[in-house]
Amino acid sequence: MKTLLPTSTAGSLPKPSWLADPEKLWSPWKLGGQELAKGKQDALRITLQEQRQTGIDIVSDGEQTRQHFVTTFIENLEGVDFKKRKTVKIRDRYDASVPTVVGPVSRPISVFVEDAKFFRSQTDQPIKWALPGPMTMVDTLYDTYYNSRKELAWEFAKILNQEAKELEAVGIDIIQFDEPAFNVFIEDVNNWGIACLERAIQGLQCETAVHVCYGYGIQANTDWKKTLGPEWRQYEEVFPKLQQSKIDIISLECHGSRVPFEVLERIRGKKVMVGAIDVSTPTVETPEEVAATLREALKYVDAEKLYPCTNCGMAPLSRELARSKLSALRAGAEIVREELLTEAAC
Ligand SMILES: [Zn+2]
Repeated sequence: MKTLLPTSTAGSLPKPSWLADPEKLWSPWKLGGQELAKGKQDALRITLQEQRQTGIDIVSDGEQTRQHFVTTFIENLEGVDFKKRKTVKIRDRYDASVPTVVGPVSRPISVFVEDAKFFRSQTDQPIKWALPGPMTMVDTLYDTYYNSRKELAWEFAKILNQEAKELEAVGIDIIQFDEPAFNVFIEDVNNWGIACLERAIQGLQCETAVHVCYGYGIQANTDWKKTLGPEWRQYEEVFPKLQQSKIDIISLECHGSRVPFEVLERIRGKKVMVGAIDVSTPTVETPEEVAATLREALKYVDAEKLYPCTNCGMAPLSRELARSKLSALRAGAEIVREELLTEAAC
C-alpha cells in the first residue's frame, strides 16, 4: 500500500434489511434461490459503495454472502453433520448448539471464490478477504471423529489453505484469518494454534493477516470482558510467537478496550491493523478519539506499518451506525496522516 495509514475494517459489516434482518447474528436470509444469489451480489455492490463513501482504503466483502463468519464456511465442508447437534461452550464463554464432526473433513467445492471473483470485478481498490481461523473453527464444533482439537485444526488448516490459494488466484490482496479463540486458549495457541495458522498460509504470495479480538459487541462478550480485570494482557502471551510467525499483518482490538498499548512492543516489526473503533458501543467516536488511539499505537508501530481498523466486525450494528463509525475512522486517520506528513516535511 502506498497510502499512509490505509484504513480497513476487521471484517463483517451490516447487511441490507431486505437481505437479512439487521442487528443480529445468524440472521436468516429473506430471499431464496436465484433471488438470493442476485441479492447477495447487490449487497456486495452496496457494501463496496458504502466503504468507498466512508473512505475505506482496503475494502472487504463485509461478509455479505455469509450468515456467520465461521458457520457458513463449515456448512460447505464434508465430514460435519449439521443435523447432529450438541450444546458446547464456545470460547469457554457461552453455550451454543453446534454441529458434529462425524468423518474426515474436506472441501468438495470452493466456498467464497465466486463471490470474491465478483467483488474483484467491481473495484480496483485493494481487497482483504476474511476466513475463519483453524482454532476458532474447531471451537465451534463437537468432534466425535478426530477426538483431538489439534488434529482437527490441522485438517482445517489444509482446507483453508486450498481456499486461500483460490482467493489469491482471483486477485484478493490480503487474506485474513479470524482467530478470536487465540485470546482464550493461550497454551494451545502457542503449542499448535500458530503452527496451524502457518499451515493455512503455506505457499501464499499475497499478504496474510490474523485477526485476534475480544469478540463482537454482543452481551455474552460484554459480560465476559467485565471478568477480565483492569488490564487485558492476553495478547502479551501469544504475541511473541506471532511476531516470529510468517503472518504479515496482525489485526487487534485497541480502542476503548483495556488492552495496554505497551503489549504492541511484542509484535514490533509486524504490520498492525490497529482497532481504533469500538464495535460494542452505540456512540460514534470523534475523529480526535480515533487519532489519539493511533498516536498511542505509533509509539510501537512504524507509521508505514500501521493500518487503522475497527476492533472487530460490525455485523450486529445498524448500517447507519456502522457508516458513521467508518467515517470517524477515516477522519481520525486523516488527522494523524497530516501530522506525520507535516513532521516529515519539517
Ligand atoms: Zn473480531
